[in-house]
Amino acid sequence: MKRTIINELLQQEDFDQKVLVKGWVRNRRGSKNVAFVAMNDGSCIHNIQVVVDFAKMGEEIMEKVSVGASLSVEGTLVASQGGGQKMEIIAEKLEVLGTADPDKYPLQPKKHSLEFLRDIAHLRFRTNTFGAITRIRHAMIFAVHKFFNDKGFYNIHTPIITASDAEGAGEMFQVSTLDIGNPPRDEEGEIDFKQDFFGKKTNLTVSGQLEAELAALAMGQVYTFGPTFRAENSNTTRHLSEFWMIEPEVAFNDLTDNMDLAEEMLKYMVKYALDNCTDDLQFLSKRLQDEEKTKKADERSMELIEKLRFVNDNDFVRLTYTEAINILRNSKPNKKKKFDYVIEGWGADLQSEHERYLVEKHFKKPVILVDYPKEIKAFYMRVNEDDKTVRAMDILFPGIGEIVGGSQREERLDVLLEKMKAMDIPEEEMWWFLDTRRFGTVPHSGFGLGFERLMLFVTGMGNIRDVIPFPRAPKQAEF
Ligand code: ATP
Ligand code: MN
Repeated sequence: MKRTIINELLQQEDFDQKVLVKGWVRNRRGSKNVAFVAMNDGSCIHNIQVVVDFAKMGEEIMEKVSVGASLSVEGTLVASQGGGQKMEIIAEKLEVLGTADPDKYPLQPKKHSLEFLRDIAHLRFRTNTFGAITRIRHAMIFAVHKFFNDKGFYNIHTPIITASDAEGAGEMFQVSTLDIGNPPRDEEGEIDFKQDFFGKKTNLTVSGQLEAELAALAMGQVYTFGPTFRAENSNTTRHLSEFWMIEPEVAFNDLTDNMDLAEEMLKYMVKYALDNCTDDLQFLSKRLQDEEKTKKADERSMELIEKLRFVNDNDFVRLTYTEAINILRNSKPNKKKKFDYVIEGWGADLQSEHERYLVEKHFKKPVILVDYPKEIKAFYMRVNEDDKTVRAMDILFPGIGEIVGGSQREERLDVLLEKMKAMDIPEEEMWWFLDTRRFGTVPHSGFGLGFERLMLFVTGMGNIRDVIPFPRAPKQAEF
């Protein structure tokens, strides 16, 4: 007999048929002799209830059908007698595939803290919360590819190991096969990377953008969706050392086209989740609402599904960095010096507290900020006519702060060279990047969307370590 996936089984209208299901015990109720066993196989948030009469199934397995054990159950699917579920299986053949000693199994059917679950990340897939997050994460990955494929973009695999550290600014993980205890030295006594695996110093990439630009300037519309690595020591709820980034790059797009694409994409992702992840979102929403009850009324946030609909239905606010600075300077927390970083004037880099003030307190909507001071942004962003600002755009989201960072790229060779000199970016190392500006250069734009930041928003979770299966963060590389 073929196994039926529980998600498919629960769509059945056709009762009194024989079925075979396999999965893990989530809960066991009832009496010693007749148990109601809730089984889950990961296919959906819901369990199937199995009624087991041990007098018939064999008393030797009575103790073994415990929370965490894996079962194979053959039986008859019937309309359920009890409330709470539409159907159940009356077991006729039951095999315990693997037991789970109740004295040792860490996941009991009660509420565990997210911190505790982080310590047992190898088992947390077996909870409702992480099952829901894992399914939503999959749906979002799929939606990214669908969105771009439907628009005629090409996916580019950009390298994970890179020799350019133009963007890294000291935040890169080195890749080397040299003996770190005794590396070869050159005449000056410096480590001789010529003897390293690639014959030069290499790192894990912080972004696929530069290579995506090369592809865009021939293929038109491309995107990368790969892992990126940052050795920044920021132990926050929004930073990982290894995260996934979606980076579209489009030839002939200006900054407005770039904003339009990013806004369309974010709304598409949110809508995709609303349309395809209803059960899991409902579960997470309820979980959040229980959590919110412990907060003061004015600190509670919007219900998850309502929040997602709100983002999908409303235009993002677009304004310049200069306008944002004026709002922030005149804001209450700035005047009362409540910000950790008080905004003194134009030129200040925005911290996440400022970004969140704009989004959560002032506009109460997602915000796209453009035209930042050139000093605080990367070398490749296009300089505006004022020669003070660049065509950068950051998208700020409630509860998150920056979710997207992008720009129109500097396509003019002379301006780019001048800027690289001013910012100490070695020209020789970037010859291949500069060639695109030497041969058939065109205006083009792109952005980077942090996939886990998007996941934070869509799931309503508060810590980025809970929206990636195996988080990497300072002092954390278990599993
Ligand atoms: P932040 O100021 O929040 O540290 P950033 O300016 O360093 O971000 P970018 O270099 O612009 O970020 O990267 C593009 C996007 O990648 C960001 O908008 C964000 O969504 C995501 N991102 C950046 N750093 C991290 C990180 N350490 N962990 C997870 N996502 C990140
Ligand atoms: Mn940024």
